[in-house]
Amino acid sequence: MLIIKDIYNLNTYLKAFRDKGYSIGYVPTMGALHEGHGSLIEKSHNDNQKTIISIFINEKQFNDTEDFEAYPRNKGDDYNFCEKHNVDLIFEPSTVEIYPKEYKSIQNSHFKNILCDQYRPGHFDGVVTVLNRLFNIIDSDKVYFGEKDFQQLKIVENLIKENFPNLKLVPVSTVRSAEGIALSSRNYKLSKKQMIDFISFQKGVIQFIANLDKETDLIEANNKAKEFIKSYEKFDYFEFRNESDLSLEGSLGDARLFYAIYKSGVRLIDNLEL
Ligand code: AMP
Repeated sequence: MLIIKDIYNLNTYLKAFRDKGYSIGYVPTMGALHEGHGSLIEKSHNDNQKTIISIFINEKQFNDTEDFEAYPRNKGDDYNFCEKHNVDLIFEPSTVEIYPKEYKSIQNSHFKNILCDQYRPGHFDGVVTVLNRLFNIIDSDKVYFGEKDFQQLKIVENLIKENFPNLKLVPVSTVRSAEGIALSSRNYKLSKKQMIDFISFQKGVIQFIANLDKETDLIEANNKAKEFIKSYEKFDYFEFRNESDLSLEGSLGDARLFYAIYKSGVRLIDNLEL
């Protein structure tokens, strides 16, 4: 397994892969890897001859410095994880490598002022800026994104449509624990007790949506969602949205429940299908 830190060396290996006619799958991550990332890697192995993963904690997408500084980092474990999953190449660039002085940020213009965009202003500008750069550097055939970050997935779909017509986006279903919790790097920040509380919250949510009829209109369903979440200590949003355009229109059969809640300062997001 190769661990490459700079674009110059990366290009040498990418060229060698391409000269041999290998197809390349790419999995962008911010490290603190878990089996959610593992599932993206495995999907890429199924589709491609070579799989590249990037590990880069992109400061530009954190609207809060404290959140950036507190983001979990565990390099050694990440290398072992990639080795175990037969990753061919880890690209782990420095910030200067990704953002040279002349590098210009770009702005996201899709799915604005709703869900995470509403509560993390500038977050998706940071996401599209880094991905625009990484997609140009890596120039893979396919790229893998998790449904766990559903709004991000939809925004990336548009970025690719507009700027990278030859790149194929492959969405991957959310990997969950036996209790139904979406695996996330941020879960590492929870104490045992906080995790137990979170599991009990998630079980309640699963039960709540299981009792709803798929024909229910989203307006009515969102009234019920408001009622369900109103006593929860801290949350940004907890609402059903149409999964094709993230609007509040349609019925539950075409929707997902999106939430962002806080557990002792840790922001946790998920989206659940009915
Ligand atoms: P992150 O390192 O959190 O930026 O995530 C990198 C990629 O892994 C993104 O495409 C995420 O949507 C995806 N991902 C994170 N958690 C999961 C999960 N539990 N299941 C599937 N994909 C995930």
